Amino acid sequence: MQTALTPEHAATPDGVEAEAILRKCVHCGFCTATCPTYQLLGDELDGPRGRIYLIKQVLEGHAPTRSTQLHLDRCLTCRNCETTCPSGVQYSNLVEIGRRIVDAEVPRPPGERMLRWALKEGLTSPLFAPAMKAGQLVRGLLPAAFKAKVPPSAPASAHRWPQRQHPRKVLLLTGCVQPAMLPNINSATARVLDAADIQTLFATDAGCCGAIRLHGGDHDGALEHMRRNIDAWWPLVSAGGVEAIVMNASGCGVTVKEYGHSLRHDPAYADKANRVADLTRDLSELLPDIVPALQAHLALPRTAGERGGGAALSPAGREGRVADRPALSPAGREGRVADRPTPSPAGRMKRLAFHPPCTLQHGQQLRGGVETHLRALGFDVQVALNEAHLCCGSAGTYSVLQPELAMPLRDRKLGHLAALDAGTIVSANIGCIQHLQSGTATPVRHWVEVLDDALAHRPESG
Ligand code: SF4
Ligand code: SF4
Repeated sequence: MQTALTPEHAATPDGVEAEAILRKCVHCGFCTATCPTYQLLGDELDGPRGRIYLIKQVLEGHAPTRSTQLHLDRCLTCRNCETTCPSGVQYSNLVEIGRRIVDAEVPRPPGERMLRWALKEGLTSPLFAPAMKAGQLVRGLLPAAFKAKVPPSAPASAHRWPQRQHPRKVLLLTGCVQPAMLPNINSATARVLDAADIQTLFATDAGCCGAIRLHGGDHDGALEHMRRNIDAWWPLVSAGGVEAIVMNASGCGVTVKEYGHSLRHDPAYADKANRVADLTRDLSELLPDIVPALQAHLALPRTAGERGGGAALSPAGREGRVADRPALSPAGREGRVADRPTPSPAGRMKRLAFHPPCTLQHGQQLRGGVETHLRALGFDVQVALNEAHLCCGSAGTYSVLQPELAMPLRDRKLGHLAALDAGTIVSANIGCIQHLQSGTATPVRHWVEVLDDALAHRPESG
């Protein structure tokens, strides 16, 4: 695509990056077919190619309007278009730049400003946890719309943390809303890793990954959150005290993996940000390494390859270094560990329907790992036969800001998942879990919680 940026934009780092991205686009429109908002609205300007044109026009001097802002707001930043694009257009980076420029030129109405401010300040505030607790106490009295946003109080077992120490250690980002809303996800992660002889550490000063402010238009605030997390993790990271920084919310994972890009213009943090990003793993990326240990707990027969020390455990895994591995071992990608019989306590459980979050399958380009390895542990896991690549409509704060699009996407997704006739829906991101749960009576959980339950009932646990 040819470009002619105004001198005002061409001279900025954002302008330089946007121009390089725009020039990769060949207008083919393949991306339009896989865009959820285009599928719902049928308007070219509500698809990636149309949004790319809108951003190009603004950078070339056309004054943006409220309509430009609306078309950019309606984008879920699901990155399905990036997976589809044959030219490698980094759409998500472009749309963040476009949104920043448009928001600087087009004022939002006061109500919209207030809602956006409340979301970015409220969700990342230390007051969020007490507010959630108060909401849970009166949950039964809340109007349906609020009740859907407030999960029931977690049982005491959700706060049970393993006490054993292990030579192998990882850092876990507990997140901003997760400890208050669904605390069992974090403790279940620590318990499952403990069963594989890996100790989970936390940095108490770490908090929101930065995604909430980044997607809420507060770029500077997002960078501050990223620097704070890097500072909190750096003593352990620089000392080589942890093998990985583990994310059990794929929305946080995709953001932390891009810290290097976000902080590339900050000389004090650029190198540290790259180091942190390199060390960051989605929880599912640990599965090729830990499945053999978990299989032993679940009394699963091992394959001949594993008895020989081969298929499921990567060479790096044998050396006990999660961080030195490629993102997912070849065994994980090819699904070889799944080719075994699966008699196990888990195998007697009801079918699981897995919803792969966009931040996992498109943002991090991790596909198939959760299903492959849960099957290796005896679970009957299925992915929707239709539109498994499409967003569920959660997309961070999108479900609050764009409910007229988020709810149809949720219901469409739930319809496809219901066709699997599963007892439980599992996913890998708190936003998706909470959003899907608001539309179904079927339990929606993180996959690690289901795995933790199976381990709790393992033979040696009695
Ligand atoms: S990020 Fe998702 S919603 Fe936005 S343009 Fe791409 S496919 Fe469409
Ligand atoms: S698929 Fe890629 S190259 Fe084609 S229009 Fe979309 S962004 Fe441009």
